[in-house]
Amino acid sequence: MFKKILIANRGEIALRILRSCREMGIQTVAVHSVADSDAMHVRLADESVCIGPAPSRESYLNMHAILSAADVCGVDAIHPGVGFLSENAAFAEMVEEHDKVFIGPTPEHIRLMGDKITAKETALKLGIPVVPGSQGAVDPDGDVPGLAQSIGYPVLIKAASGGGGKGMKVAQNAAELGEALRFARIEAKACFGNDQVYMEKYLGQPRHIEMQIIADSHGNVVHLGERDCSLQRRHQKVWEEAPSPAISPSARKELGDTVTKAIQTLGYRGVGTIEFLYEKGQFFFIEMNTRLQVEHPITEMITGIDLVREQIRVAAGLPLSFSQEDVKFKGHAIECRINAEDSETFMPSPGQIQDYVTPGGYGVRVDSAMYQGYKIPPHYDSLIAKLIVYGDTREECLARVRRALQEYAITGVNTLLPLHRELAEAADVISGDYDIHWLEKWLAAKAQSEAA
Ligand code: ADP
Repeated sequence: MFKKILIANRGEIALRILRSCREMGIQTVAVHSVADSDAMHVRLADESVCIGPAPSRESYLNMHAILSAADVCGVDAIHPGVGFLSENAAFAEMVEEHDKVFIGPTPEHIRLMGDKITAKETALKLGIPVVPGSQGAVDPDGDVPGLAQSIGYPVLIKAASGGGGKGMKVAQNAAELGEALRFARIEAKACFGNDQVYMEKYLGQPRHIEMQIIADSHGNVVHLGERDCSLQRRHQKVWEEAPSPAISPSARKELGDTVTKAIQTLGYRGVGTIEFLYEKGQFFFIEMNTRLQVEHPITEMITGIDLVREQIRVAAGLPLSFSQEDVKFKGHAIECRINAEDSETFMPSPGQIQDYVTPGGYGVRVDSAMYQGYKIPPHYDSLIAKLIVYGDTREECLARVRRALQEYAITGVNTLLPLHRELAEAADVISGDYDIHWLEKWLAAKAQSEAA
């Protein structure tokens, strides 16, 4: 097993990884920007190294600085966390060249799935159904209207290197197509340095269902069930549940078997999430994330498996410590993403936290790096905490979510706590009757009724 791991990340996820390392007796090295000197992950790590100025590209994305820190501290492995360098194949390669283990899949698998066009082609080859759409990239000089017509409106133009919901534009009809294509390419180029796009049928009422898998380097692959991440704003997840209120045990088994077989054929190692849209009883692959997901804790709550611990173990070459038969799903879990944003305008709200009172009690888990007096820097993602709640049934879980949200107090900055309190009382959320468009429609209706 590794003796020392460098955690190339910040915030709650750095802390999440640090906690598993400590329980496993592994030393930790935190890296941080100048803006994060007082951060919790720095305070709790065994060692810490400042790797650069506040902007991410000069610190958390600065591969050379991170590798130098790893060399100086003599670590065996680097955990990239989520975001930042977690899906950067070149970084994974550089880590290997430095004779350290990248805690994740091989650079080849990261590259294959990082390009969403090759990911879709691979999924198809592996027998996974995909959203109907263009075969490969859209040629902007080709017959784009003909292609859209053959797919059927509305269509969605998506960035091949996309992520975080960026570089995605809908065209409802032929009149909107030219502009959607142009804007998607401009955004894709600006965000990802690659203006290649592809086209998909824009589904009207799907749910976002994703399957968690974990694979070791001995050919064992296990799925840990699905998460329902349909409550989204701007294609970004806000609230997640496991299991999905819309998936039957037989649908779960069928999808789980398909995905497990595909991942085995691929020879993949590590944790991964295969994302689908689910509409009218059918699953359509959209992408695969070759890393830990922000919402992984809800899977941990219903399976009793520490995903980070297992991820570290398989990266160290150990076999999975459980088989598919050992995985038992129990109860229900919900995660509320608490962003430092205004609950109505969604404007980011960096600044100093004054009061910070976390909820507790049976079935309540808070993954966060916040504390009283902490200054949220303006340079990074606005996710400051994840409230993760377990209940034996969905009803019990929802009641506990409402209770925990009442207890949770954060002052000094705006947060999404008020939004989550309303969501937990919304009839469609209580009945589980929502799709990926529900939240935006609900927010629009709320804004309209408040304006009236
Ligand atoms: P990203 O990598 O940017 O997160 P995804 O491909 O994972 O992009 O899609 C993010 C979200 O965008 C999905 O969860 C879904 O809400 C929406 N979306 C993606 N593809 C489609 C589609 N073909 N039809 C409708 N919504 C879609």
